[in-house]
Amino acid sequence: MAAKPTKIAAVRGMKDLLPPESDLWRFMEEAARLTFGTYGYREIRTPVLERTELFARAMGATTDVVQKEMYTFTDRAGDSLTLRPEATAGVCRAFIEQGLYSQGQFKFFTLGPMFRHERPQKGRFRQFTQFNVEALGFAEPMIDAEQIVMLAQLLDRLGVANVEIHLNSLGDDQCRPQYKAALIVYLEQHGARLCDDCRRRMRENPLRVLDCKAEGCKQIAEQAPTISAHWCDDCRAHFEEVQEFLEAAGVKYTVDPRLVRGLDYYTRTTFEALAGDLGAQNAVAGGGRYDNLIKELGGPDTPATGFAVGVDRLSLLIDAKRFGQSGPDLFFVAVGPQARRRAFAEVVVLREGGLWVEMSSADTGLNSQLKRANKLGAARVVFRMEDELDRGVITFKDMDTGHQEEVLAPSLGSMKNLDPVLWSNAYCAEMVLMRSLFDDAVNDPSAFEQKAKRLDNPMGKRMKIDHQD
Ligand SMILES: [Zn+2]
Ligand SMILES: [Zn+2]
Repeated sequence: MAAKPTKIAAVRGMKDLLPPESDLWRFMEEAARLTFGTYGYREIRTPVLERTELFARAMGATTDVVQKEMYTFTDRAGDSLTLRPEATAGVCRAFIEQGLYSQGQFKFFTLGPMFRHERPQKGRFRQFTQFNVEALGFAEPMIDAEQIVMLAQLLDRLGVANVEIHLNSLGDDQCRPQYKAALIVYLEQHGARLCDDCRRRMRENPLRVLDCKAEGCKQIAEQAPTISAHWCDDCRAHFEEVQEFLEAAGVKYTVDPRLVRGLDYYTRTTFEALAGDLGAQNAVAGGGRYDNLIKELGGPDTPATGFAVGVDRLSLLIDAKRFGQSGPDLFFVAVGPQARRRAFAEVVVLREGGLWVEMSSADTGLNSQLKRANKLGAARVVFRMEDELDRGVITFKDMDTGHQEEVLAPSLGSMKNLDPVLWSNAYCAEMVLMRSLFDDAVNDPSAFEQKAKRLDNPMGKRMKIDHQD
């Protein structure tokens, strides 16, 4: 006897997204598309696989991400490739490679998976999802502020509570070198108490010490000199203008002189959005200006700014009950071959009208089909039985109230001739009025509205008919 094949598990740190959680993800994506779209951001989709060199140059060869966390492999042609650990480098690569800079400014967003070989924990996966926003070719502080406002608006739209925006400026090539030098002097005085990683990176990138999670390093970072004392006039003016625009838009923020970002490419404005239980908020989004990156990747000198939202963490902060449809609008209980064919035709038309309609795939009995409707959480059931077919009637049952009603069946032709939206509106109306509602919806819209007003049903919101043509 052959051995039973063993089961195959998913890769560690990578998860399956199942309904209803996948409904929440779609909801977040739709909110992101809507929000970014109103600010003029358009979608860009770049490959998940890029040449390893791109990330080494963009993120800095000495960063933890590049040194320890990338999924890198050699392909069959001998090229070193890496699954993208973040999105900005790929967007900039496309901007340069496609010659987009010759057309001036671009606002892009992208949604998708990123990959980092980190220790998995709550809200952190090795395949994780980000919403990314990049404005390329914009030097002005208004765009920095606009992105922060847009992020705050997205989080608000998603119902995320206790959002705090933290803001800092990391300076530029004019002023950051002096700050770095001052920071190195300070860190050297406390070198013995720094962790091994920080002692190693202290001279290459002392700013990253301020970001270290080790307890000793945190204490040293608390007393470290801050960059604000070293800003040049241009950086100071830029940062002040960002804040003026934020105040104009009524977005609250905290200037956090110790906020640095983990990647080498940030310049000037840098920000994070924290959210979650009060007092224990975690970063759900972060970003800032990266005016040197496109030049360093071989493109023309192009100022840019962007941010990323960590969608896995974000999903933990949203009340899943606030959105999504738990069950179908209608479930057709159809018994007998004739009735089932007729029901199938009606189901097809209703789905064309935008309703979620289910029908049992097997001609099991009435009771077993009703059970299935219940299990799926259907709002209403439509009965299609052979004897009703002969009598030209159709029976509806409201699953919440148990109310049941028999009405004249509409002809399939009349269903098809109606505008699908009108159709679904009328179909969801109170069942006893359905027949006359169909006629009114076509012939006398004001009579339809009057009747519709008398109806008190959970689908009432769908009955609003727009009479403008
Ligand atoms: Zn450290
Ligand atoms: Zn400066």
